[in-house]
Amino acid sequence: MRIIVSGCAGFIGSHLTERLLADGHDVVGVDNFISGSRANAEKLRRLPRFQFLEHDITNPLLVEGPCERVYDLACPASPVDFGPHRLEILAVCSRGVWQLLDFARARGARILHASTSEVYGDPQEHPQSETYWGHVNPIGARSCYDEGKRFGEALLTAYHNQHGSEIRIPRIFNTYGPNMRRDDGRMLPTFIDQALRGAPLTVHGDGRQTRSFCYVSDLVEGLVRLMESDVSEPVNLGNPVEITILQAAQEVIQLTDSSSRITHVPRPADDPAVRRPDITRAQTRLGWNPVVERADGFARTIEWFKATVHKFHD
Ligand code: UDP
Repeated sequence: MRIIVSGCAGFIGSHLTERLLADGHDVVGVDNFISGSRANAEKLRRLPRFQFLEHDITNPLLVEGPCERVYDLACPASPVDFGPHRLEILAVCSRGVWQLLDFARARGARILHASTSEVYGDPQEHPQSETYWGHVNPIGARSCYDEGKRFGEALLTAYHNQHGSEIRIPRIFNTYGPNMRRDDGRMLPTFIDQALRGAPLTVHGDGRQTRSFCYVSDLVEGLVRLMESDVSEPVNLGNPVEITILQAAQEVIQLTDSSSRITHVPRPADDPAVRRPDITRAQTRLGWNPVVERADGFARTIEWFKATVHKFHD
């Protein structure tokens, strides 16, 4: 198949593109580098059957030739981006998704748009299943992303209902692995970077808030299964093993054999207190289960940081 991947230079997009190429597909990767990395794009450029287009998807996508699938992963997704890029995030989640839906419709292509656990906000139901409508502050610190992604789900559903578009909506929970940016701002790259430098690990608040961390190869497997399934409703994709942020910090210190200590810093506004996916729908409808244990995934991510990012900063 010929497949478009928007956000191909980002963390998840780069892994997904490699996987689709390895499966024998032709991939046109699109990115405007607002948060994607040029290093990821350069690595992809060396692979056969890959074509790169530097493009902002809020403008019409001009790609000639056939296209059977569109994976839309183009959006800054780290909470540190929600401040400086709030308008760009709202634009890509609305005009950008709209452009790709029109593109997919014109080609008769199926479209998967990356949604997020952030649609559940600071959840009052735990764990979160797809039937939960969420608890989101529409004018809060994270609202550009949370409401943007909620709008994206509404837009896909409207295209499905009004035009018969084939849509897929993964709600992606916290994911980690190689290719994350060192300055990404998210918990794991931040903690690994700090531990490898012997700097204090900056735990927000008392660190009793929880998250559930999914290794990127598991997530990519879920995305591909969902795309090739017949499920047009949202599907949670994430690892249901939940830990506190304090525990994650302690595990990183242990796995890096670091002398770093933990320091407590103020917790950002609207930071969800808990997050854990109910993955029953993915298990039953896609036959999907995450398989990479956290200790293994954390260790692989640490090795990647040591071999790449820290090689240049030691
Ligand atoms: N966090 C932290 N220290 C950091 C970065 C993040 O304690 O340096 C916390 C953050 O407050 C949140 C959790 O780790 O409770 C996960 O944050 P992340 O930015 O990775 O993603 P989120 O789940 O908030 O989208």
